[in-house]
Amino acid sequence: MTAASETLRSWFYRPWSLAILAAVLSAALLLAGSLGVALRQVQQRESEQMNAQGERFLERLEQLFGQLREGLDDLEAQPLRSCDTDMIATLQQVSFNYRFVYEAAYIDATQFCSNRPRQDGLSAIRPPDIKGPTYSYWLNTSTEPDENRAALMLGRGNFRVATSRGHLTDMVDLTPGSSLLVVVGQGARAIPVLGAPQAWPPTDPWSPFSSEPLQVTKTRLIYRMPTNNPEYQLVLITPRTALHLPTLWWWLVPASLVLGLSIGALVFLLARQRQSLGGELQGALKRGELQVLYQPIFDLKSRNCVGAEALLRWRRPDGTLTSPDLFIPMAENTGQIRQITDFVLQRLLEQLGKLLRANPQLYISVNLAACDVMVPRVGQVMARLLATHRVAARQIAFEVTERGLIDVVIARENLQALRDAGHQVLIDDFGTGYCSLAYLQTLPVDCLKIDKAFIDALGHDAASSGVAPHIIRMAHALQLKVIAEGIEHEAQVTLLSSEGVNYGQGWLFAHALTAAQFIELITRGRRLAPRRLDDEA
Ligand code: C2E
Ligand code: MG
Ligand code: MG
Repeated sequence: MTAASETLRSWFYRPWSLAILAAVLSAALLLAGSLGVALRQVQQRESEQMNAQGERFLERLEQLFGQLREGLDDLEAQPLRSCDTDMIATLQQVSFNYRFVYEAAYIDATQFCSNRPRQDGLSAIRPPDIKGPTYSYWLNTSTEPDENRAALMLGRGNFRVATSRGHLTDMVDLTPGSSLLVVVGQGARAIPVLGAPQAWPPTDPWSPFSSEPLQVTKTRLIYRMPTNNPEYQLVLITPRTALHLPTLWWWLVPASLVLGLSIGALVFLLARQRQSLGGELQGALKRGELQVLYQPIFDLKSRNCVGAEALLRWRRPDGTLTSPDLFIPMAENTGQIRQITDFVLQRLLEQLGKLLRANPQLYISVNLAACDVMVPRVGQVMARLLATHRVAARQIAFEVTERGLIDVVIARENLQALRDAGHQVLIDDFGTGYCSLAYLQTLPVDCLKIDKAFIDALGHDAASSGVAPHIIRMAHALQLKVIAEGIEHEAQVTLLSSEGVNYGQGWLFAHALTAAQFIELITRGRRLAPRRLDDEA
């Protein structure tokens, strides 16, 4: 393991640093999450407001255009065609009948008259912006901020009717910077009816072909109103307002900080507890509270014991047992695992050295942690102990989990060194990690131990029931031995034997035994006793 990863690991192990990290991360996540939600809400509200405004405008425009057209139709239908008092009265009548007609006028080459006598009245000279088959349209006929001045004008024959700016804006408050545009020439040109001219097409990236009426760009909201007339389109553009966060969000800030601090405090307590467990473990090693037990491994056909797996137990002074599943991962984090592995190796040879010398076919397998596989230390410690106790290297096997093979290049080198020294290498809990067949082929391994979970599934309908047979076939194809772990029922032995598995361990045969019990089992003739052997622990 590199020095950098060691430093990182020890940093993570410090309660204070962990707590600060947890507090900062959780507060930042909570704040970012709540800010995201608040912003979404604000944007949603903005879009909803624009939609509502757009719809109100559209409704008003439909009424307005309807009235202007009807007014023109009425004028066109009556017989008068010259500016006299009757014409003025007729024009006044039309303006009176239709609320949205602010000004009605008659115009020809020589005369002009309107219901409103004014000097700068409706222009006869400017060509229409849109020329339809019946009606012509003049848009934004005045840009002056006079509520009574015309904003759009319609013409038919010699008649003109115009509406006022006030009639367009009384329904909807056009916010500063907003514009109501009429887009003509197949989207090429936009004429403002209300508000300032706008660049068209918009300079912000937008999708002109989207079917959504409302488009939100970075700086603008663009509401394209559906019209029945293909010659023009009505578009409402407003600048996006600065985002005002809801007041609730400002409450979330202190709440997130308090929650982050609470999480930090919790992490601190847990880390302290874990650290104190680490301290206790150190004491346990000194006081000799750790004990090595041996779970026998059997030949499934002959039911002879061929070896055992060394399993660690932590028996506290009050008699309670702490599971290795709890303290081994912790010892891996604190680095105490090296001491523990050395302890297991030493104790195993002290306790079983004589038995192993007397039974050269017997072997004991030892579990290695991931960090044990990353350095050649274990092989060196083992070699010294084997020499002292005059035990053959082939009588000690090493179990590594797939997790221990993460840095496969280094692991492969160290495992190969162990094999070269004469040890067997087993992959423990096989099937629970990520080892693939192709990967397995490249590893210096002698045996696969199939995890208990797959042995449990054997004979059941569960999807995982087919995993064990698959692993077995794969192991055989690679000429690897197979040991089944956690056998609890006779039926499992029958199934495993029929699949060609030769070895197994589990509570059906024996729990983990003390050294004395294991020695007794072997010296009794390696046969399985009529009663099940029980864990003394
Ligand atoms: P493992 O190496 O896969 O060990 C097998 C575990 O399954 C042992 O649990 C064993 O007691 C249990 N077992 C065996 N047969 C049966 C059965 O029929 N039914 C059930 N339910 N369980 C069965 P244990 O001893 O609690 O060990 C748990 C894990 O702790 C081991 O898994 C191993 O990964 C780790 N461990 C134990 N001792 C050591 C050690 O000395 N060094 C290291 N690095 N890890 C160890
Ligand atoms: Mg094991
Ligand atoms: Mg296992």
